[in-house]
Amino acid sequence: MSSIKNKINQLRDELRQHNYNYYVLDNPTISDYEFDIKLKELQRLEAEHPEFYDANSPTLRVGGEITKNFETVVHEHRMYSLDNSYSKDDLLDWETRIKKLVDGDIQYTCELKYDGASISLTYENGSLLRAVTRGDGTQGDDVTANVKTIKSVPLQLKGDYPQKFDIRGEIVLPFDGFNKMNEERIASGEEPYRNPRNTASGSLKLQDSSEVAKRPLECLLYNLTGNNLGITTQFDSLEKARQMGFKVPKAAKLVNSIDEVLEFVAYWDAARHDLPYETDGVVIKVNSLFQQEELGYTAKAPRWAIAYKFKAEQVSTRLNEITYQVGRTGAITPVANLEPVELAGTTVKRASLHNADQIEKLDIRVGDKVYVEKGGEIIPKIIAVDFSKRPQDSQPTKYITHCPECNTELERLEGEAKHFCPNYNGCNPQVIGRIQHFISRKAMDIEGLGGETVALLVNEGLISNYSDLYELTKEQVMPLERMAEKSAENLVNGIESSKQIPFERVLFALGIRYVGETVAKKLAKHYKGIDALSSASLEDLVNVDEIGEKIAESVVEFFSSLENIMTIQRLKGFGLQLEISAEKLANQTNKLENQIFVVSGVFHTVSRTELKKLIEDNGGKVSSSISTKTNFVVAGDKMGPSKRQKAESLDITIITEQEFLEMLQ
Ligand code: AMP
Ligand code: ZN
Repeated sequence: MSSIKNKINQLRDELRQHNYNYYVLDNPTISDYEFDIKLKELQRLEAEHPEFYDANSPTLRVGGEITKNFETVVHEHRMYSLDNSYSKDDLLDWETRIKKLVDGDIQYTCELKYDGASISLTYENGSLLRAVTRGDGTQGDDVTANVKTIKSVPLQLKGDYPQKFDIRGEIVLPFDGFNKMNEERIASGEEPYRNPRNTASGSLKLQDSSEVAKRPLECLLYNLTGNNLGITTQFDSLEKARQMGFKVPKAAKLVNSIDEVLEFVAYWDAARHDLPYETDGVVIKVNSLFQQEELGYTAKAPRWAIAYKFKAEQVSTRLNEITYQVGRTGAITPVANLEPVELAGTTVKRASLHNADQIEKLDIRVGDKVYVEKGGEIIPKIIAVDFSKRPQDSQPTKYITHCPECNTELERLEGEAKHFCPNYNGCNPQVIGRIQHFISRKAMDIEGLGGETVALLVNEGLISNYSDLYELTKEQVMPLERMAEKSAENLVNGIESSKQIPFERVLFALGIRYVGETVAKKLAKHYKGIDALSSASLEDLVNVDEIGEKIAESVVEFFSSLENIMTIQRLKGFGLQLEISAEKLANQTNKLENQIFVVSGVFHTVSRTELKKLIEDNGGKVSSSISTKTNFVVAGDKMGPSKRQKAESLDITIITEQEFLEMLQ
């Protein structure tokens, strides 16, 4: 028995170390595959031995806990904001002020100011107890379940640590991950997120922690707070935090004068562009904690620290032309075509103008000199117009009224910022874009067919809709540019094989607005086939778990089009999977709808995994922890005593494996 416990502990330690190597040190020592094997092994052992449950086990990083309302928590130590400075004079003024209040020389720790969402983590006896947002500084929201999924946040500390303390930091979304998330959003016809900062703070408030787990967030720490921490300077506290296993960027530097502070600022003002995440300045902190205490706080901020904001890099250039792009959903995006100019190391030629309101707000006109800035956004943006340089004969911008591609009159729906071209089936970029989406990797994944070939096929008049793909012949394709017999054959074979792609992906491939991968899965699971889905009413749709009004309306609209219905009939005729396969279906019911289960203990007739699958296949939900929302606890042998106690205290029905199986009869 104890050898199993040892094995579990050993695996937990190993996985913790590998997580640390990978996410904190950026220096993995085993392959992802090996990591996975170990993780699965631990999952299996934990499932078989729930008596060794540990809320901080590395297996719990995948999330799954749902939070409907985030609990408000009062910070034991207030979270202050920072005063800002923008020039050498500002910094010298600050130095003069603090020198009047403390004796002796002052050293400063310079750190980068990470641009994300601030967070306060509380640790007790080396385990993460709680994670709370800054909120108004006095109290914030408890987002522990979500923060636990961020792999650079240690659940269990290393080495020597104070018995209880808070550590503050910033949750950021590095550019790479941010761009990847946006690619996926664009694939489901959604507006991309504007910047990493807002996306990071929005992520903390997601209700489903397993969604948070999918986002590549990172947590960078900068401040230890508490009593008896055994440290005397800010600089040492950073090192101490590193030793406990936290991710503390190495850029921090200890300096002796404001001139050195300015050198640090000048260096990072350029070097920050090579960092994987966004920074918006430098934070200068009095290094001695004793001096910090003497200086204390104003109503809003510490006197012992000050932020120095980087100037967002700006240049001025001429607006040559406004062009309009049509997306695959028909959304129009105005684009500013600029006189090429250097900005933050790249040549900028274009900037997004977002929509008609933005153009009106800026009062931007062709021929204007405009200020372009590269801030938190990846795409540069136009901040303002230099009205003093406006040409005499300048004319206000008239937003287009007709589609630049097909000349159809544009529409703008209530509450939508963007104009749309309603010519769904006759507007080239929409037609091509939709087919390109259909064949893309996460949709039908058609081998041998790429985006450019799709454009070619459409422009040659060979296809005008994705169902046409299934009638293409080798002979038709061969004469196309850059096609040979072999590649034509691959293309046709690739199309043929796509008939085996499961329903949920076909549904995603159809390109219904707002129906991304996850939504497609949910709809497929609920409706099981295209017939039920296409006849579902608005009310019916919004009653499906996690389907909101916006999605529901879009689905109804899609199936109200006769052309779409005909296309789907054709796809059916060609043999695509427009229903969940019979095998999958045979095992599914709605018997457990709206019921939330917690599974605990060891089972005999079915495995724990099978049990969970049975719950989900029959419409129920599995949650990892017992709460007031739990309906049933399915208890096997050796259910943990604390779980049983909790279930009993909340009056939740505890059933056996047999009783559960009877529910399904
Ligand atoms: P502000 O929101 O402009 O008042 O700036 C204060 C915020 O800067 C804090 O709440 C932190 O979230 C954030 N911040 C980012 N990096 C640091 C850092 N190295 N030290 C202190 N605060 C930081
Ligand atoms: Zn059009």
